Amino acid sequence: MLAILTYHSIDDSGSVVSIAPHVFAEQMKALAAAGFQGISLHEALAFRQANRHWPERCVVLTFDDGFANFYETAMPELAKHDFTATVFVISGHVGGNNDWDSPPAGLGSQRMLSWPQVKELAKQGIEIGAHTRTHPDLRRLSEPDIEEEIAGCCAEISDHIGQPVENFAYPYGYRNHQAEAVVRRTMASACTTELRRTNEDPLHLLPRVDMYYLQSTPQLTSLVEGKLDGYLTIRRWGRTVRQVLGAH
Ligand SMILES: [Zn+2]
Repeated sequence: MLAILTYHSIDDSGSVVSIAPHVFAEQMKALAAAGFQGISLHEALAFRQANRHWPERCVVLTFDDGFANFYETAMPELAKHDFTATVFVISGHVGGNNDWDSPPAGLGSQRMLSWPQVKELAKQGIEIGAHTRTHPDLRRLSEPDIEEEIAGCCAEISDHIGQPVENFAYPYGYRNHQAEAVVRRTMASACTTELRRTNEDPLHLLPRVDMYYLQSTPQLTSLVEGKLDGYLTIRRWGRTVRQVLGAH
């Protein structure tokens, strides 16, 4: 079993997609103290391919959307512990703002990573994944348009970082059969927002644990130690009813 964690913005706004910088620092410190290594999805998949199981005492750190505060705030904390991560970038918003949708309450306008920052992160071993060009609800697009959103995003990122883009995260976690088919055909793996640890899931439907649900550091260490699977099941039911995270 492997926990793939989802972060978005590391900032003090208190929004549903934000984790405060001091909390993030504490979480990374606690993972390291518990003997866990934060790694990218690429590293986890390479290990799984070679060994036929997920790596032990590792946790995959993913950051959706590509906020500039990843570079400014998260990266220095990761570097302290020699952790890596995967950042899922919206290629059409690199160098811009989070204006693909109205932001969740409290978040306001945030700067996104610039291309020089994306390039620098890739050079430092951070995996850059694809999160489409414009962050649409893929269920509303035709198959050629889905292809264009995904392939176009990968091409744009590759052009800037000089490396292929392998992994994908569905915007909002929304997908249908068409979107899944395109992703299965074109990407090595894809992440959803399904709230649980992964074991034998299809690689284009990897569940992730959104850090909105695990803000206390002891909860995080319980999760990675495998002691929270029951709690996540309950939160999953609650979320289906309330759709708390429908706004991102
Ligand atoms: Zn997103």
